[in-house]
This record gives sequence, C-alpha cells and structure tokens, in this order.
Amino acid sequence: MTNSYFNENKLEDLLDEIKFVYQSDERPWIIGYSGGKDSTVLTHLVYLMLKNLKPDERKKSVHIVSSDTLVENPLIKQYLDDMLYLLSEAAEKDKLPVVVKKVTPAPDTTFWANVIGRGFPTPRTNGTFRWCTDRLKIAPSGTYINEIIEKEKTEVVVLLGVRKEESIARKRRIEGRELADRLLNRHETIKQAYVYPAIVELTTDDVWKILMENSMKNAWGGDNRRIVELYSGADGGECPFAGFSSKDAQPQTCGQSRFGCWVCTVVKEDKSLNGFIKTGHRELIPLAEFRKWLMSIRDVPEKREKKRRDGTVYWTNNNELGFGPFTWEARQEILERLLSIQKQMSYELITEDELRAIDEIWDNEKDLSRRTLVDLYYRVMETRLPWDHLKRPMFDDDTVAKLQAYAKQYNVPLELLHTMIFSTSKNKYFSNTKRLRDALGKLVTQQWLQEASLCDTEEGIVDGDQEDSNL
Ligand code: SF4
Repeated sequence: MTNSYFNENKLEDLLDEIKFVYQSDERPWIIGYSGGKDSTVLTHLVYLMLKNLKPDERKKSVHIVSSDTLVENPLIKQYLDDMLYLLSEAAEKDKLPVVVKKVTPAPDTTFWANVIGRGFPTPRTNGTFRWCTDRLKIAPSGTYINEIIEKEKTEVVVLLGVRKEESIARKRRIEGRELADRLLNRHETIKQAYVYPAIVELTTDDVWKILMENSMKNAWGGDNRRIVELYSGADGGECPFAGFSSKDAQPQTCGQSRFGCWVCTVVKEDKSLNGFIKTGHRELIPLAEFRKWLMSIRDVPEKREKKRRDGTVYWTNNNELGFGPFTWEARQEILERLLSIQKQMSYELITEDELRAIDEIWDNEKDLSRRTLVDLYYRVMETRLPWDHLKRPMFDDDTVAKLQAYAKQYNVPLELLHTMIFSTSKNKYFSNTKRLRDALGKLVTQQWLQEASLCDTEEGIVDGDQEDSNL
C-alpha cells in the first residue's frame, strides 16, 4: 500500500471531489464503461455520488457507455450485458439521471465486414496494419459522444477509468471552481469534450480494495466476485494496445478495453481466451482454433491478391509482387469456417447486419451471381437469410458464359470486365455521363494491368512492408 491514495485520503474525499466536479457546471457526463475493474470502480463511485445527492441536485445526465466490438469474448460480453441491464434497472429504481448505452461499430466497419467483405488482411502480430482499434473501439464511442454534443448543443465531460500509479499520491483539495477546471483535460480528438480521469490517482490495490467492500456488491447491485473470476480466468489478457499516456492520462488506441477481442491477431497467444479455456471454459476451444487458423493463412500467397484494392501494385525486396487483400475465395473460406463454428457453438459470431453489409460489398465488387453469400449461408446453416429470396443474378448463365468467352478471345482479364460491369451498374443512373467515363477510365488504367511492363523496367520497387497501405 506504499503509494495508496488512502494513505492520505479517505474514500469520502474522492466522492467529494467527484461531487464537486459534477456540480461545477452543466456539461453532461459520459462514462466509458468496459466492465473491467477500473471502469467498474469509476462507475460505482459516480453512482454512489449521484445516489447521495438530493433529487434536485442531480441536475445533469450521466451517460454510461459501453463499447461492444462485436468480436468480444463471449464470457465478457455476457458479463457486460448483465451489468448494463442491472445498471439501467437500478438507475430507474433510484431515479438517477443515468442513460445506459451500448455502442457497436456500424455493420460495414466491423472486423468481419473488413476481413470477409473487403479482404483486409488481419492486423499483424508486430502491431503494424492495426486498422481495427479505431474502427472497432474508438469510432463507435466517438460517434456517440458527438451525438450528445450535437443534440444537447453543449460541451461534454468524458470520465475514463484510467490511472497512473504515481510515486506519491497527491493529496487533493477542493478550493474552488478554478481547481475543478484543472481536474479536466482536453479530449485528444473531440474538440468539445473534456476528460475527467476521476480515479487517476488510485493504485491497483486501491481499486481492488473498493471492489471488495460492501460484501463485493457494487452500487447498482452487481456482484464484483464476477470481475474477480473474469480476471483470474483471463490471466491478464487485454487488448494489447490498451493503456494511456502519462502526460494527459488519456487512453491510447484501444481505449478502455481490459479484454481483447476473441479474434485478436495482434497477440501471438491470446492469454485471456486460453486462460478461460484452462479454467474450464472448453466451449471456447473452437474460437481459439479458428483464431489460430486465421493467423496461419494471413501470409499464404494463394490466399492473397497481388494488388491492392485500388489496383496499385508494389514489389517486395525480393522483387516479387507484394500482397493485397485476401482473395475472394479466401474470404468465402473464412466466412464458411466462421459460420460452421457459429452453428457448432449455437452462439452468434457474425450478425445478420454484418452479413448484409458483406453481401452488399461483394455485390458491388465481386459477385456477378449476387448469390454467393446467401447460398454459402444456406449451405452451412441450413436456413435461409431473410433477404435470400430477393437476390437475383445480374446476368443469366448464357450471358456469363459469353462474357467469359469474349474475355478469352480478346485477351481481356475477366476481373477487369467484372469491375467495369459493377462500375457501370453503380453509375448508370447519373445523367452526367462524365462520371461513368471517369470511373471506367480509372479502371482501364489501373497499375496492375500494366504490371508486366513495370516489372521490365524494375520501377516502383518498394519495401515489403508496403503491403498494407491503401488497402
Ligand atoms: S483487441 Fe486486438 S483485434 Fe481487438 S481492437 Fe485491440 S488490437 Fe484490434
């Protein structure tokens, strides 16, 4: 307990400070709640503070926002859902101005929409090409914060359960409004938001001490024993990029996450997933196996296109064409495997909204038949997607056969023909034909079509790590 906040302060001091900041202005509060120990303590303290106020003193709303990446570990997801339910029930009963909100990435920006839909290679174990954290974790909460700013036409204060374990806990005194301003930092990316790191000075021991109090019941009636179980089961697994910069105590990248996504390919070994399996959650084994397989196919040449999504190409140091996205066949394979384990586990791993988003991406980029996804789904799940009956092929079999024959006869890559058809279909309703001409012009001058001549001149040789840019 060397640096404990409680060496020089009592819990009431912290509650007083939180109350003071709450009453200092009209700006709504937004708490990032991940279900981890730090954000639980933070939410617990704010809840206690609100409960101790007289009803007419509870002047501003407190939004408790939880982010679900849609690839959460099933045990964490269940726990979070339970806690959010309890929280909203209790807040209603206690008549607190609390709004409980779970945010998720938009269906076409999720992990699966990007990997299976667009073919994004999975993030690398060395942390490069980590496109996931922003899309899955940062953007959904950011969108919600901006919505509040917009709707309530005000600045907001974001409360984060970040901590720095300082060598000497600074004794806090509340001396006036001036100090309240100093307790807030400007938000790194949202101009009209401030950050109040209310528990920044608590040590890890302090946090556990608070969680253990009151027979391990938190302020909204949740059982903190479940957090202890999750932490001991998970063996310390967390999003590898969680953390915060000591300078301003704001989170970097993965925000408030204490547990990583079950499919995280950035870590070699997913400690949390394996930890849960070791403690008896054998139902998670298919997820661990799938993750391993997904990592194993990342750099297999047959599974990757040899051009980027925008049609540009690059060469590795070995003078070979560098990798682009997963091929369409590989994406279908990933989806097929994912659905198989979804069926095996009777647990939703990919939502219908995501499937619809992927279906749309494939329709616009790859699928002349327009039935690949719905048929694949039916093959694996033995049930039809709700929009299955609406899917009609773009052309009949005869026309497709003719297209193939012409492509061969005139030595035109079939893929180019397909993309030109998709582009024409997308632009056909615009009265200004320049749009379509420009789009087609771009397609016929794509770099990959000229790859042979570029190879001859050995131009454009770049470092192998370029694979992921502009995907
Ligand atoms: S846990 Fe892994 S997959 Fe999930 S956002 Fe963080 S780095 Fe990306």
